[in-house]
Amino acid sequence: MLSKILSKEQCADCGFCCVFRRTSIWETPLFSKSVIEKLKTKYQDSEFVRVGDLYTIDLSKEYKTDSDDEEAACFFLDKKSGCMLNDDEKPLDCKIWPLRIMKDAEHLVIALTPTCKEINKLPVETVKEFVQSGIGEYIRDKAMKMPDIIKEYRSDFPVIMTFSD
Ligand code: SF4
Ligand code: SF4
Repeated sequence: MLSKILSKEQCADCGFCCVFRRTSIWETPLFSKSVIEKLKTKYQDSEFVRVGDLYTIDLSKEYKTDSDDEEAACFFLDKKSGCMLNDDEKPLDCKIWPLRIMKDAEHLVIALTPTCKEINKLPVETVKEFVQSGIGEYIRDKAMKMPDIIKEYRSDFPVIMTFSD
């Protein structure tokens, strides 16, 4: 979805956003119930935990040490070919990453994850122009139907677009 500003080649050399430290578990993607029912059949080692009305991957058994820095990969990451999910299965969180929809004290905002090295090489104005040309509204409309994907705003996430209502 962000291919106009982030290429498949850049992501293929990275893969950072498909592995999670314990401290970044809040960032694991959210799936609908109907999708996880399919995924449990196709990927029998996958585990899920409920988040509101949605579900996310449960990586708790994947960590082998007590270190906060240990990383565990998403169940659907193939180290060579990337994400194994098809378009219907892939969660919105992953389609829009490194963008996030967040809520501060007053507003819904589209914010940029600071840990994506590639997108953060772009001038922030370029990202703003892209988001404000339509994808921001698209994300907001989707989030209205699945509000559990809206995260609490974090001050280190640059705000790309603010919704006034
Ligand atoms: S962290 Fe950024 S560059 Fe790396 S795979 Fe994710 S979106 Fe692509
Ligand atoms: S669902 Fe796919 S894109 Fe999303 S974190 Fe897992 S492997 Fe990565």
